[in-house]
Amino acid sequence: MIIGQILKSKGRGVMTARPEDSIQTIASQLATKKIGAILILGESENVAGIISERDIIRLIAEHGPAALTMLARDGMTRDVVSCTCECTLDEVMETMTKRRFRHMPVVEDGKLVGIISIGDVVKHHTAEVELEVTAMRGYLATG
Ligand code: AMP
Repeated sequence: MIIGQILKSKGRGVMTARPEDSIQTIASQLATKKIGAILILGESENVAGIISERDIIRLIAEHGPAALTMLARDGMTRDVVSCTCECTLDEVMETMTKRRFRHMPVVEDGKLVGIISIGDVVKHHTAEVELEVTAMRGYLATG
């Protein structure tokens, strides 16, 4: 399965924020939308960074309450790993496992077109495995 197929079923909507937004604003958006990460867009709508709930916990641990008035650009991960619609589910799963993060933006021609979370990966991987098991059972039953 390729990422483009997953985006067709889940949609291309992505929560984004700006580098000058406060950590308080980002935390509110994560809580309201019940999501774990938000992408930070630069002036040309390029992906400039990502902030996940883990980054916010780290900022609070390091700076205390002052973390909430800090800006996204001070706490975001700048070196964002992304995939394209043509990447396979297995490739994304492997990168997330190796790099130990749970979110992967999907970028086409330099523009953000979606995001895949570990939840999406698990859901579609499980569906793939179930399909294989069903096919194998059918094969064995008719063999
Ligand atoms: P997560 O597991 O997604 O909550 O993120 C764990 C850490 O990895 C945080 O510091 C995130 O900013 C960072 N991170 C999450 N997704 C990515 C990504 N696609 N590329 C680079 N860093 C990421």
